[in-house]
Amino acid sequence: MKTIGMIGGMSYESSIHYYERINNQVNQIAGGLTCAKMLIYNVNFEEIRKLMLENEWDEIGAELAKIAKTLEDAGADYIVIATNTMHKLADYVQSQIRIPLIHIADSVADKCKESNVSKVGLLGTKYTMVEDFLVDRLKLNGLTVFTPKDSKDIDEIDRIIFDELCKGTIKESSKEYYKKVIEQMVEEYGIKGIILGCTEIEMLIKQNDLDIPVFDTTQAHIDSIVDYSLERRI
Ligand code: GLU
Repeated sequence: MKTIGMIGGMSYESSIHYYERINNQVNQIAGGLTCAKMLIYNVNFEEIRKLMLENEWDEIGAELAKIAKTLEDAGADYIVIATNTMHKLADYVQSQIRIPLIHIADSVADKCKESNVSKVGLLGTKYTMVEDFLVDRLKLNGLTVFTPKDSKDIDEIDRIIFDELCKGTIKESSKEYYKKVIEQMVEEYGIKGIILGCTEIEMLIKQNDLDIPVFDTTQAHIDSIVDYSLERRI
């Protein structure tokens, strides 16, 4: 079994799901008392969020790279960043360590390919929707990716993530808002699936809420991590 080094806490609401499900799934496959070998470095998200709002991405990159090195030195075989947005810094973090980073976009793209869906919508934080880092990685995996075009929708989707979901607050009105945006993307772009490109959105939107396939980055990432952990993938 390999040891996973997870950078968590962004938010801790979603990191809990990583911890619980990685262990559950490893146990279901391997049986007995088996659970995952895992090192977790939980950041204080308040400090990171402040740097995000100040646009201090170099500082965040330096911090994440330092943490990844700490996990590598402590014996991790793979690094996992348990958030989509921080994959903005994934290439930099990878360049600073010798062990592989399991990229969340590759994990979710695998799920889309397994379902033969290539034209997808992407929801996430404003950074994830407006910038190229995740979209480009999904495109490298052969997907055609659409994001909401209305800046009001982008701002509201982002606000719901940080003001509600990262604090564990689930509101019916927010669910309806997300559904409305996804339905608009189906009409406007003809998307055949939707990627939940933020690790908290799965708490709000479930497959039953929509008529198109839902590709959740949290579960997709967890599935890859379990495979790497059990050496079913190298
Ligand atoms: N967990 C969220 C994501 O997957 C947002 C938190 C963050 O900014 O890292 O993007």
